[in-house]
Amino acid sequence: MEIKTGLWMDPPDGRRWFFDSGALSLDLGYTGDYGYGVAAWESLHGPADLDSWLADRFGPPARPCGETDLAGARRLRAAITATARRVSTGEPPAATDVDVINDWAARPAIPPRLPGGTGKPVAPGPAEMLATVAHDAIRTFGSMPDRVRECAADDCRLIFLDTSRPGSRRWCSMRRCGGRAKAKTHYHRNH
Ligand SMILES: [Zn+2]
Repeated sequence: MEIKTGLWMDPPDGRRWFFDSGALSLDLGYTGDYGYGVAAWESLHGPADLDSWLADRFGPPARPCGETDLAGARRLRAAITATARRVSTGEPPAATDVDVINDWAARPAIPPRLPGGTGKPVAPGPAEMLATVAHDAIRTFGSMPDRVRECAADDCRLIFLDTSRPGSRRWCSMRRCGGRAKAKTHYHRNH
């Protein structure tokens, strides 16, 4: 299943910008504070917030999310963000985080479908959607850990999966940090 990745970032300066994290699992991470302890970055305040995050990516869930789904999503998210931070610096993930991701991945996920049949697809529930996010986490951290990177700007901690063919992505966004770096080089060259 091909799911579009990326999310809009709303920094305090009001300059909204699009960040493509490159992976569904990393996207889930950006609904929270990525383990930095900043309460203001939390965007999953209640089950309805999880509903809309899931609906944006998979279509509306078969049933609305409850508190259990929210708690589960937050646990999975914490394991994903902690793993992303470790893997991006070349460290192996913590066993406890791996356990959480594996536990989610072992549950029934959204089944793949070949189009063209006569049956109608059954809308998945929140749990199947989260299991699918866990599968993405395993793909991301398991098969391409060297492509999980932090933005090259000194003051930017955004982590992304480099899905470019040459594997040369360095910035969270070319226009944001990439553009600033270019401007800096230009400034140093001319002053
Ligand atoms: Zn950046």
